[in-house]
Amino acid sequence: MLTRNPYEPLRSETLPARLGNLPEMTGRLGSAEGWRVREVGDGNLNLVFIVESTIGSVVVKQALPYARVVGESWPMSLDRAFFEYHALTRLGARDPGRLPALHLFDEGQALQIMEHLSPHIILRRGLIAGTFYPALGEHLGRYLARTLFRGSDLSMDTARRKADVALFAGNVELCGITEDLFFTDPFWDCPRNRHTPALAAQVTVVRADRDLKLAALEMKARFCMCAQTLLHGDMHTGSVMVSDTDTRVIDAEFAAYGPMGFDVGSLLGNLWMAYFAQAGHRADDAGGDAYRSWILQLAETVWEVFVAEFSLLWRTERGGILGGRELFENQADPLGAELMLHGLLADIWSDALGFAGIEMHRRILGLAHIPEFETIAEEERRAACERRALAAGRELAVHRRAFLTIAQVSDLVAGIEARAR
Ligand code: ADP
Ligand code: MG
Repeated sequence: MLTRNPYEPLRSETLPARLGNLPEMTGRLGSAEGWRVREVGDGNLNLVFIVESTIGSVVVKQALPYARVVGESWPMSLDRAFFEYHALTRLGARDPGRLPALHLFDEGQALQIMEHLSPHIILRRGLIAGTFYPALGEHLGRYLARTLFRGSDLSMDTARRKADVALFAGNVELCGITEDLFFTDPFWDCPRNRHTPALAAQVTVVRADRDLKLAALEMKARFCMCAQTLLHGDMHTGSVMVSDTDTRVIDAEFAAYGPMGFDVGSLLGNLWMAYFAQAGHRADDAGGDAYRSWILQLAETVWEVFVAEFSLLWRTERGGILGGRELFENQADPLGAELMLHGLLADIWSDALGFAGIEMHRRILGLAHIPEFETIAEEERRAACERRALAAGRELAVHRRAFLTIAQVSDLVAGIEARAR
């Protein structure tokens, strides 16, 4: 058993000897002599290995006792692997097939062995390359609706729900990182921050922008105080892997109970940033314009499919603590239930826009940046893209209740882009 040994990080060279006796490995790969191991972790926190043989492949993910992006000077508990495991199994059951299958979790080694997604790539890479994914919007909209609905009081009974909230309340370290990195750091001169130097004037404006800072703290309060459902908690385009026909969600270690709009808004904010980054990656010709329009359409599809699927689940599956059928359907008043649905969707929508707007700030002014902008080598060009994203992000965060439809957001985003040309 792995767990009898004290925790030790794997290395490509030691992995076959250390995992070579596990049936979860040998059953899929054959004996360890034939394994090829590559460390591919490009994330911020953990080790990720692809282990292949002539007959199969798996992914081995292991937490490190520090944040990989910063180094040993930022110690981090290994517990995050435990929360990722519990989130992966729950989210995977709520939208079957959308997360990688888990083969083994070993708590002592903070290690998961899971399905190797292939030929999938990280969605961010596909968006930088200008690739179209026809089914992506539907997959993501449905994923969000199913996981957020089925993880909430609209589905869970009291005993399961309270036990689960208590369990995930233990994910304090990663929750605390989100609280700081998302909602606070970008809006003051925090030493962890960095930004493209040409944005200096913009940064001064942001930090003096009281309305924006109010919005940031209001969204932080929503995130901290509204334990509406089990979130993925890091639902950006770097946590989605895609092939031509398939879409998968990975990396749920930031899972926490929070407001439904958080996962929705994180994803939408990243799609709108991918839109603004296009000017740094391709010519302003018909091809560039077509791809930009597709990204806006993708965001619209995600939201529209989310609404449709959430409404379907509401009508067909609603139960749990907040089901409320006794008050409406069972008294021949289905309209009451529809009104409740309508109000909830309106709250999720304004929350999502608020979270999207804050995400669009923290990815440009905070610690963790995104490859869409980072790979634009020429500084002035990168800064121009980032400025547009900040302008849109501010509108969304501050005026989140003024947007009634996603078409209005598409108009905002396209308008900012058009005026800048
Ligand atoms: P971190 O928690 O450190 O951010 P991730 O879970 O995001 O780690 O994984 C880092 C990288 O490893 C991903 O960007 C992806 O390229 C690769 N990866 C992770 N899980 C899988 C998987 N199941 N199949 C294929 N590649 C994966
Ligand atoms: Mg991660």
